[in-house]
Amino acid sequence: MPEGDVVWRTARQLHDALAGRVLVRSDFRVPRYATTSLAGRVVTDAISRGKHLLIRVEGDVSVHTHLRMDGSWRISPATGQPLRDHRIRLVLANDTWQAVGQQLGIVEVIRTSQESRAVGHLGPDLLGPAFDLAEAVRRLGADPQRAIGEALLDQRNLAGVGNLYKAETLFLRGLSPWRPTGEVTGLADLVDLARQLLEANKERVGQVTTGNPARGEQTWVYGRAGRPCRRCSTVIRGGEQGPQTEERVTFWCPRCQPG
Ligand SMILES: [Zn+2]
Repeated sequence: MPEGDVVWRTARQLHDALAGRVLVRSDFRVPRYATTSLAGRVVTDAISRGKHLLIRVEGDVSVHTHLRMDGSWRISPATGQPLRDHRIRLVLANDTWQAVGQQLGIVEVIRTSQESRAVGHLGPDLLGPAFDLAEAVRRLGADPQRAIGEALLDQRNLAGVGNLYKAETLFLRGLSPWRPTGEVTGLADLVDLARQLLEANKERVGQVTTGNPARGEQTWVYGRAGRPCRRCSTVIRGGEQGPQTEERVTFWCPRCQPG
């Protein structure tokens, strides 16, 4: 599942392929924008805000997208040929490159000057250019009864953490996902660790928190329910936390993370 590191890298790839060039084609395959065309306009920037992507186009236009569970952007040399794939939601092409967005959870065209309507609710962006640790800690601690596993995933507290980095950060700090946030000492260290894990992975494909990139060795607890803890051999648990969505399955070691 795409988390902040994947979205950051995607934004950079989109920026490299599109920024400073004129779009020769745009193909929105969502009903609301079926007649929208950005052809002839210059892309000025592509950035990430947490798990959101903003592609800015001259004339106060931003294309706001979100990868959600299965979305992706692929960049390839422009072919000029129509693409047939029912998963495609948006194609943006210049005379050199085409960027193809598949299975995007959000596709909307907004004013660049009003981007805050789309991303203004987000907490400090862990991979943003001016990450505000104190503000992230303040937001995280604002609801002391709330389970830390849920609070870390709430993008209004801090932006960029998904299920994998949540589970791994809590394991590395020895914290149960159900520990009330008010009982967690060292929230700043916890947030900083999440930021470091995202930083360490943003330049590469694959998400590694153990230091071992070999298949099956990349994580401490994420995706490892039923298998032995790498530290204490206790069986790793997996279970739902918070509102029932796919994003909320969490993983933990009951011995290393007493709760
Ligand atoms: Zn353990």
